[in-house]
Amino acid sequence: MVRTRLWILHVVTYSIKLFMSLLPILRFPDPRLKKIAAPVEVVDDSIRRLARDMAETMYEAPGIGLAATQVDVHKRVIVIDASETRDQLMALVNPEIIEQDGVQVCEEGCLSVPGIYDRVERAEHVVVRYLDLQGQEQIVSATGLLAVCLQHEIDHLQGRVFVEHLSQLKQLRIRNKLAKQARITA
Ligand code: ZN
Repeated sequence: MVRTRLWILHVVTYSIKLFMSLLPILRFPDPRLKKIAAPVEVVDDSIRRLARDMAETMYEAPGIGLAATQVDVHKRVIVIDASETRDQLMALVNPEIIEQDGVQVCEEGCLSVPGIYDRVERAEHVVVRYLDLQGQEQIVSATGLLAVCLQHEIDHLQGRVFVEHLSQLKQLRIRNKLAKQARITA
């Protein structure tokens, strides 16, 4: 009985995954993570589809934010859900920090740098202007984790990965660790 139920559950999960478009995530230090994303000129169906696929990829990973750069699409699009309930999805096109103040230090991780977490200093409060998926201009004012997440993802669009905020020695250690991981999985 239990086995049958599990089997049904697996089939259902597998079927759902077939309909999802999960995008491969680039891993640091892939040079494509250094590309600077271009602004989106028109928010059309292709951008909405990209944002939807990015959101599915982020939830599946699971992560709390993903930038288009990380899926090798060099357009200014990010998705974020920093809520505990995982139901506060934000999709931001052409996000731009227009105000920032204060300082906070938060432990960060990144889907492009698996297994690595470290403390990064960021602004405590940011105001971000962006276009929503209807192409309407919006403004979000954020503090705490959401502010960190916005700064982390906007950094990706500029070709910056969070580890680049760390010391050269730490960066070298991270590169060596990831290279070792890659050799083990290869
Ligand atoms: Zn990241």
